[in-house]
Amino acid sequence: MQLDHIKELESKYLLGTYARYDVLIDRGTGAYLIDKANKRYLDLLAGIGVNSLGYNHPRVKHVLRKQIKKPLHVSNLLYHEYQGRLAEKLSQVSGLDRIFFTNSGTESVEGCLKFARAWANRNPGKRRFRFLALADSFHGRTFGALSATGQKKYRDPFEPMVPGFDFVNFNDVADLERKFNDEVCAVMFETIQGEGGIRMVSEEFYRAARQLTAKNDALLICDEIQCGLGRTGRWYAFHKFAPPSDKAMLPDLVASAKPLGLGIPLGAILLKQHVADAIQIGHHGTTFGGGPLACRASIEYFNVLEEENMLARVREVGEYFLKRLEEVRTLPVVKEVRGDGLMLAVELKIPGKEIVKQLLQQGFILNCTHETVLRMLPPFVIKEKQIDKFVRALKSVLEVQNVASENTR
Ligand SMILES: *Cc1c(COP(=O)(O)O)cnc(C)c1O
Repeated sequence: MQLDHIKELESKYLLGTYARYDVLIDRGTGAYLIDKANKRYLDLLAGIGVNSLGYNHPRVKHVLRKQIKKPLHVSNLLYHEYQGRLAEKLSQVSGLDRIFFTNSGTESVEGCLKFARAWANRNPGKRRFRFLALADSFHGRTFGALSATGQKKYRDPFEPMVPGFDFVNFNDVADLERKFNDEVCAVMFETIQGEGGIRMVSEEFYRAARQLTAKNDALLICDEIQCGLGRTGRWYAFHKFAPPSDKAMLPDLVASAKPLGLGIPLGAILLKQHVADAIQIGHHGTTFGGGPLACRASIEYFNVLEEENMLARVREVGEYFLKRLEEVRTLPVVKEVRGDGLMLAVELKIPGKEIVKQLLQQGFILNCTHETVLRMLPPFVIKEKQIDKFVRALKSVLEVQNVASENTR
């Protein structure tokens, strides 16, 4: 089927929520996607941080081929062999104690909010229901997750929101202390904001939030859906501030998803034991979450990352990428270049949408978030040479942009 026909069908029958790029993907290999007309694209978006191992990975294909012969679904009323093993792995790498499997990032956030409330409600009579989130955050699209999302454009069409949510200025410890009181059950943030434009929570802010919540019988929730699971060259981005062995400094709850199931929908909620103690049989559940196919894929994600020493590779190639991006930092149209591991951004002084379009035509897939931020979340298998190629293209597009905008002045 041709792209024009598919576009016609979609525009007639699909709910109009997505602005897609004009590309019909057929297949992929390594860090490349290939369209129906055999045009190759270097993929710097990885399905929004999902395809961390790139495309057509031989080990992933192998285990899924084997797994597909077994039941694809058994429900959470029965055992299958992978949930316990995967939970053990997640606990080991994170330093948290217990795992609940979901189907998406939003669902993981929603579960964190519910668990925080259940934990607060273990002391009936105390009114402890408020959540503090950050300005410009993105936590998902269901009512709880949306209520925690600090960007009006996502919330406005669906008001009123769930009561009890307030927003703290980004990395503003004084504002956090001002808005915190004994009605707060949890403080939640993305350790590195994704949709908000690749912005990192500072160590000072992390420590302040951790100490303030611990001292006042409240919880710290980290949304690591985009920045977690190896993206920064650490298992979780908060490990920059607290290694897995530093129990006291770790968050109490973590929302995880994106690359977890290697493209098969899978999310996870990680809990410390004291939070898990507030949850009983029947309190929460899901039909699909933690199914055998998704969990088997996920175990292979950890196997490959560990056996191929990929966290070190992410740090190495991430540093290389950031260093190469220095070449565009000095262009007049560029405001800032920043990143951690393979979560990178070029913030522009102009809207980024047209830049993304031009790069797409030249065979590079990335996206623009927060209007002016070019976001790069490439697969971990990306090579230095491919980065060179991209930076050259980016530089030439941005240089021309600058000339054009000066001409119109
Ligand atoms: C993608 C994302 C979500 C939502 O995840 P879905 O799988 O789309 O539901 C929530 N929080 C962050 C930080 C994300 O990047």
